Amino acid sequence: MGISPFKIIKKIKDTKPRKSIVIAIIVMIGLFTTINLLKIKDGIIVFNELIPKVESLNEYEIEATFYEDEKIIEGTEKITYVNKSSNNIKSVYFHIYPNVFKSKETVPFEEEEIDLAYIDGFEPGYIDIASVKSTKGDLSFLIIGKGNSVLKVNLDEELEPGDKTKIYIDFMLKIPPSNGRFGFGRNTINLGNWYPIAAMLDESGWNLEPYHPIGDPFFSDVANYRVIITIDQSYVVASTGDLIKKENIGGKYRWTFEVKKVRDFAMIASNKYKIIEDEIDDILVRSYYFEDESAELSLKAAKDSLGIFNKIFGKYPYRHFSVAASDFFIGGMEYPKLVFIDEGMYRGNDEILEYIIVHETAHQWWYGLVGNNEIEEAWLDEALTEYSTLLYYENKYGEDRKDKIYKKMILGVYNLYRHFNEIENETILKSLGDFKNSREYQALVYCKGAMFLQCLREELGDEIFFNALKVYFDKYKYKNATTEDFMKICEIVSDRELKDIFDKWLKDVNE
Ligand SMILES: [Zn+2]
Repeated sequence: MGISPFKIIKKIKDTKPRKSIVIAIIVMIGLFTTINLLKIKDGIIVFNELIPKVESLNEYEIEATFYEDEKIIEGTEKITYVNKSSNNIKSVYFHIYPNVFKSKETVPFEEEEIDLAYIDGFEPGYIDIASVKSTKGDLSFLIIGKGNSVLKVNLDEELEPGDKTKIYIDFMLKIPPSNGRFGFGRNTINLGNWYPIAAMLDESGWNLEPYHPIGDPFFSDVANYRVIITIDQSYVVASTGDLIKKENIGGKYRWTFEVKKVRDFAMIASNKYKIIEDEIDDILVRSYYFEDESAELSLKAAKDSLGIFNKIFGKYPYRHFSVAASDFFIGGMEYPKLVFIDEGMYRGNDEILEYIIVHETAHQWWYGLVGNNEIEEAWLDEALTEYSTLLYYENKYGEDRKDKIYKKMILGVYNLYRHFNEIENETILKSLGDFKNSREYQALVYCKGAMFLQCLREELGDEIFFNALKVYFDKYKYKNATTEDFMKICEIVSDRELKDIFDKWLKDVNE
């Protein structure tokens, strides 16, 4: 997610200042250790294990019909679920995030955000699960967790490691009047985190964390999708998928999208959209906008950042990418191949619009392709994304511009929050529920996280630092990585032990 600085200023207006604190410059002690895990050939790291394995992915087939007057969607979802764990499983858990929109107590917004999210007043949104079936018949299920946001499906027989099963879910979705990831506003219908998505099963068990109001509380594997939505003809639909066909069915359009190897599937629809498009490196880039003069700028920012990140990190593997103006009050939100951008940004400061679009585009690499647990290790994708945004400025406009933006958006915001006493505890690497509020989260995860990466770059030198980012992307694209994985790559590429510097920045209270 990208948070608008306008929101930051608005939020801290009433808090009390405290004396500013000079940011400590970390002096690092490099422990030179030889790690013989990999070959270094002509200065390039060669990973023998990089040969991609053929893996079974979950498959989602969703058919949805949108009813305009009621703002509901009736849907069926067929999941071909693969047991990727090493144990037999008897149940499969799904996140059913829309249920948290049922009451003001569980919506994923901080209290002061509720009026911004529901500008026409609160009304509930939710998902009703009508039935869950296997190929043999009905399956029993339970709806559990905070805000009833977890669906537990009991399988009719144990699923062995590597085996697949088909689960059919019928549901009805009530879309709330919320300007967030899931909801409708005056211009758009935002379908982010809208369908039952399989929870992650790892060594620690099922990851069933609730929908936190801070950060982007998501964690998923890449999967293949076929999504069909039937909607009034006046609507244009942008989505994570590639449009396969658009048929006229009884006066409505039936849009069929398909996409492989993405970790989520979002859609956004509007009956006011205009579209401009362009190409870079064989990627079709689209900007969905309203009556705005900044449409060209949004397209150019997306296109130029894709081109720059392709060179720095490695090639974006999909054929298209869309930037969609949306009724979204928190700046921007990233989904695979599609980002939502607050439509108000198009009528405000072009510099901020560019920054937000580049940030969300950088997420295509960090979170989209290289995934991570955004609840436990939010910094890993957000700080890399924020730092990548700086790299866009450095590559497009030169170092001076990057330094200026770094001072304003990174050091400036971090110091501002310290000044206003918003940072209670300097630890960056902590669970979303352990952050005091979204200001502390922003200051640490985005700003201090980017400061750490700048420091790491200075310490390792440009060649090693950028090599490490390339290797990290190559090794973990379509997978999930951890802080430990990222550190190991940096250690291998630099041939140094980096635990001290990582711990110092990410874990220490640092007072
Ligand atoms: Zn972000």
